[in-house]
Amino acid sequence: MFENFTEADHKKFMMMAHDMRKYGHDPKGQNGAVIINQNKELVYGGYNGLPFEKELNDEMKELFCTNWENNFQNDYRYNQRLIKHAETNAIDNALYHGLKVEDCVIYITLYPCIHCAEAVVKSGIKMLVHDDETVDFNDPNWGEGWKGVKDLFDKQGIEILQLHTNKEQIGLGRLAKLSIHYTDFYRKHGFIRG
Ligand SMILES: [Zn+2]
Repeated sequence: MFENFTEADHKKFMMMAHDMRKYGHDPKGQNGAVIINQNKELVYGGYNGLPFEKELNDEMKELFCTNWENNFQNDYRYNQRLIKHAETNAIDNALYHGLKVEDCVIYITLYPCIHCAEAVVKSGIKMLVHDDETVDFNDPNWGEGWKGVKDLFDKQGIEILQLHTNKEQIGLGRLAKLSIHYTDFYRKHGFIRG
């Protein structure tokens, strides 16, 4: 379905996902995602963040951040429950704005969890590209879940492509330079606070 996508295309869109990643709210595991249609156009993007970001006032922000920091130290799972994942944010952002994600490809900087994988299936997205080098189906903690994601995608005919990106090349300085255009786009569409 995406035969017209060159390796350079995949790398470019992967870079855009890394661009989104740096806005992630979770300092322990920032993740970014962009959805691209078959015409190689950006549909929408997302990062792992609060689901209610737009409604946060200063008082809530302070309360949340205090709680977040405390719980981040004490219970990482609590933090995870508060943070909506990048892939589902990207999909929900697009659908909220009435944009079609069916038959698109999603680029993400971390291999998805099963809940995000379900959201990808449900959305009609047909391909997933990531460059997460940590994926190992034999990992004692995450291996079984990661394998479950692959099995689900295989059954649904969703292709998974793993890119091997030079992570040293995508330091924040370089991204900041590359991403001025997209940063403006994201700000305009309300992804970025301020
Ligand atoms: Zn997830």
